[in-house]
Amino acid sequence: MQFKAVLDSDIPFPMILGPCSAESYDQMDATIQSILPLKPQLIRAGVWKPRTRPGFFQGIGEQALPWLTELQNKYKIPITTEVATAQHVEACLKANITNLWIGARTTVNPFYVQDIADALRGSDVHVMVKNPMNPDLNLWIGCIERIYKVGVEHVAAIHRGFSFYGNAIYRNVPRWQIPIELRRRLPGIQMIGDISHISGHINHLREIAQIALDLKYDGIMAEIHHKPETALSDADQQVTASFFAEEVKAKLVARRVSSDSADFNIQLKSLREKIDNIDHQIIDLLSQRMAIAEELGAHKKQNNIAIYQPTRWDEIVTRLIHVAREKGLSEEFIFSLIEAIHIESIQHQSKKMND
Ligand code: PEP
Ligand code: MN
Repeated sequence: MQFKAVLDSDIPFPMILGPCSAESYDQMDATIQSILPLKPQLIRAGVWKPRTRPGFFQGIGEQALPWLTELQNKYKIPITTEVATAQHVEACLKANITNLWIGARTTVNPFYVQDIADALRGSDVHVMVKNPMNPDLNLWIGCIERIYKVGVEHVAAIHRGFSFYGNAIYRNVPRWQIPIELRRRLPGIQMIGDISHISGHINHLREIAQIALDLKYDGIMAEIHHKPETALSDADQQVTASFFAEEVKAKLVARRVSSDSADFNIQLKSLREKIDNIDHQIIDLLSQRMAIAEELGAHKKQNNIAIYQPTRWDEIVTRLIHVAREKGLSEEFIFSLIEAIHIESIQHQSKKMND
């Protein structure tokens, strides 16, 4: 597959900026005006919003399309929106919205993707495909293939992170190795980092954008709202254009992948050796911990006691979060770590229980 660009590759780090949802003509107009100084390549705005639970703002729907058409003419900048069905595609094409993205909840479903692809056949569009909700690289590639096969050559990928159960630092786990592998499997495809949906909170936008920049992504997508606190969807992760300019964009650092400086490389090697040693010690300790879990399993079996004991689990979490906080580790991190250790421990115990 030979992909054509969706973002202009001559511009350093192109941006797709705009609100999570198109809420009203005035909100779109005010938001776009505030964004223009940042010179975005595309404006984003969701019209049909896939809400996880009912009862939340579902987007304005087709009635918002004339606003987008008018505003893209007014500001001479294309507006991109999410399509989740063939009807959405038809409505967008009629409204001259020809930059479309496929959302994470659609990429997972080959039936929807094929319907969308069939509706796109023969049209001159640019399509961006978000990763599926679950970390399944083949589903992501499959969606891109279906779109490409109907003759759409301008196809790019959007990395928006992967959902999971439990607490974590970010709203969606980035799993950077998956977009990296996608780029290896589909050479030439542009990769766009959706920093807002990975972060889930404005505090993390800069660090995620920096990683995307370090990984040589072709651009980023970010949610900007002229009044984020009034946003009808994803209010926690939307920022004003000036916040974005000052707290995210201005603080990004263009970094090199490697250095020729001997001093730097010696120091790097020594620090990496220390980290590698600690990693080995962690694994050693974990293996010792699992051996004890197996002893515990045998002991519980003899006494006919259940493996999982909720009060014990609550006590462990509370105590370790307290200790970790004193050592400067975040609650989210330590929770995910203990949870992973606990799951592995239960597996070791049940092996003994069922021996
Ligand atoms: C969005 O971009 O507003 C959106 C719903 O994204 P995702 O499909 O990544 O959840
Ligand atoms: Mn959103």
